Amino acid sequence: MIPEKYKEQLYTVGEYANKLGLKAWVVGGAVRDFYLKRDTLDIDLAFSGNQESVAGFCVKKWGGDKHKFSRFYTYRVSLGNGMKLDMVRTRKETYPFPGSLPQVEPSPNIKDDLFRRDFTTNAWCFSINPDTFGKCYDPFGAQKDIDGGLVRILHDKSFLDDPTRMFRAVRFAGRFGWKLAPKTERLLREAVKGEYPLLVTRDRFTHELIKILEEERVKEIFALMDKYDLLKFAWPGLTWHESLLKTKNAMERVGILACLLGASGEEFVRSLRLPAASAHEILGAWKVYQEKMSPLAPLSDMKKNILRAVLPGLPASALEPCVVRGQDLKEKGLSGRKISTTLEEIRRAQWQGKIKNKEDALATL
Ligand code: ATP
Repeated sequence: MIPEKYKEQLYTVGEYANKLGLKAWVVGGAVRDFYLKRDTLDIDLAFSGNQESVAGFCVKKWGGDKHKFSRFYTYRVSLGNGMKLDMVRTRKETYPFPGSLPQVEPSPNIKDDLFRRDFTTNAWCFSINPDTFGKCYDPFGAQKDIDGGLVRILHDKSFLDDPTRMFRAVRFAGRFGWKLAPKTERLLREAVKGEYPLLVTRDRFTHELIKILEEERVKEIFALMDKYDLLKFAWPGLTWHESLLKTKNAMERVGILACLLGASGEEFVRSLRLPAASAHEILGAWKVYQEKMSPLAPLSDMKKNILRAVLPGLPASALEPCVVRGQDLKEKGLSGRKISTTLEEIRRAQWQGKIKNKEDALATL
């Protein structure tokens, strides 16, 4: 099952771990992707003890850097060749209260580490230690569920422990064309009724929403969110629109959703925990969309992409900076408030394609 191109590297990691007396496995989504023969650059590795020196060994051998997430005993190693290794120490998780972050406790038992995961299809592994290299361990029926195209949670309290899994469930179902297993579907519907998604922070919710908006099959995922009434947790009134397919960029897709929401779009964007620069760009595009006037200053490509997606019939000149400046109007003898009102009229006319250049604009005075 291990793709040829990763074999040597994974073997080398497993061999080094073995020298330290650690058991090592490929776990999670990478196992699913290897089985489905889908390309992946993100590989999750689990180790039965402290993996810090394995992370250091990888960086020394292949270049790149490592970053530690102390709370979760995780190292992210970004290698020079673009590969990303997420290295966790096998652990057990408990949730002190619904929707909280888990309490994490190291456990050398790989089954505990698989059981803390979201769905059966992401809860299997194979060994990379030399004497058992490639040997699969599938205690919860991942292979059977992948073959049957089913998203199945591992225990009945799964959505309550971590409601972000509700969004992950539809993301995987939409991405792979899978269905929710009958009991998982029933528990998801109960979780929606109980409004479990309100238990998670907007931060964690934003993370899952962005992952959805990064997906190729975002339309199928939105259809499932609609089917299970999950869209309302993103924002009241949020719906699918074909214009979301005009870009593959998740931030631009947020911008499109904001514009389509109309007046409440600004609040929607501010409710998300987006990188400040992206939020600024998105709100800039939203403002132009609300004003429906050509801008005073040039628009960035991102803003233009958002606006072109939501306004496909817009004349090309509408998104260019206004063809006249206040100074031009002053020179024509206008003064005071008359300058700003005339400028707005010209910007509106340019937006509608009625004015294409400075001569057109000055001729209207
Ligand atoms: P993708 O292909 O989108 O990267 P993935 O399955 O690799 O999907 P990640 O979000 O990268 O998912 O997470 C890696 C692994 O961590 C998952 O396969 C899953 O086993 C586990 N995981 C992630 N989020 C959760 C969660 N909320 N609850 C339980 N397990 C999780």
